[in-house]
Amino acid sequence: MPDLLIENLGSVVSGNLDDPRRSVESVYVEDGYIRELDATTTTADTVLDANGLTLTPGLIDSHVHPVFGDFTPRQNTIGWCESYLHGGITSMISNGEPHLPGRPRDVESAKALATLARKSLENDRPGGVKVRGGTLILSDGMTEADIEDVAQEGVERLKFLMPVEDRTLGRNLVEWGHDHDMIVLMHCGGTSLPGVKSTDADLFMDIRPDIAAHVNGGPTPIPDAEVEKLVTETDLVLDIVLAGNQRVAVDVLELAAERDDLARVQLGTDTPSGTGVTPLGVLLQSAILASMTSVSAAEMLCLATGTTAAHHGLETGEIAVGKPADLVLMGAPKGGPKDTALDTLAHGEYPAVDKVFVDGELLVTRSRNTAPAKQAAEVRP
Ligand SMILES: [Zn+2]
Repeated sequence: MPDLLIENLGSVVSGNLDDPRRSVESVYVEDGYIRELDATTTTADTVLDANGLTLTPGLIDSHVHPVFGDFTPRQNTIGWCESYLHGGITSMISNGEPHLPGRPRDVESAKALATLARKSLENDRPGGVKVRGGTLILSDGMTEADIEDVAQEGVERLKFLMPVEDRTLGRNLVEWGHDHDMIVLMHCGGTSLPGVKSTDADLFMDIRPDIAAHVNGGPTPIPDAEVEKLVTETDLVLDIVLAGNQRVAVDVLELAAERDDLARVQLGTDTPSGTGVTPLGVLLQSAILASMTSVSAAEMLCLATGTTAAHHGLETGEIAVGKPADLVLMGAPKGGPKDTALDTLAHGEYPAVDKVFVDGELLVTRSRNTAPAKQAAEVRP
């Protein structure tokens, strides 16, 4: 695999909330991994002049609903993952595959769907994006053996989409999942689809999943006082999405920041969904929140990368030696009022995505979805 040297970097967002900005002038990548920061290596197969652009880890959409390949039946759209790649997304986390046409509701079919989605998305990266697919949608009638079965097939996540009626079973499902190192998500909000029941804070405290999926509503939020309880009285991961209520998103983020609890927050879109296909969704969510809260643009990009990676045990999400070279170079859009990607986000717009790398491979040269950047990075001859 050709090696890569990126020089002349502007700001570098680390992806690590403890130290969101790093002063790094160059990055050397070999075999798909970051090998050196402030590289001593001076030559490579590809040498890129970043022209002062901002380097960030590849963005991670914490909340997507894929089915198979690069097609979503929900909006009859082909190529949606590749389009998200052009929005800087290099990884995505499936929050379940309920959009399968004619999805059967029996236990064996649910298990088969999660297993197949997990394996097919592992074998083939749609549009070049690393999609962690296969999230088992839990239902009444599931047993410990069912959870064990899917765990053995590599399924990593369980999701309460329609709350299980029997709360004892709900608590057991969480425990069985944890026994197999699985991550348990629960729908947080009103009825999003026929058959999905609303949840409340009490249910979360009783069943104790790991993640409040779309804590700001999917699309309808739970009452404000209930959301506040989830932030202040639990240690749940707080998943904030574009397809939810943005005023609630601002409240959750401010409250988490006040409590020094930003590490619990992750950003996503909750798409494809009724809200649509949103290739720039994570950037837009970051811009909205960076411009309307006290959280800085660099910290915001950590919530769109490193914290999500930590919650899901992903190897990626940080600019550090030994991490996969999933990278984005971004800048201020041409004609915009600001001069850097971070100032652009803080001002409330999404920045220009100029280059996107997955495992050190250059997959996007100038995004087809964002405006072009004021300066572009250039491959040195
Ligand atoms: Zn969702």
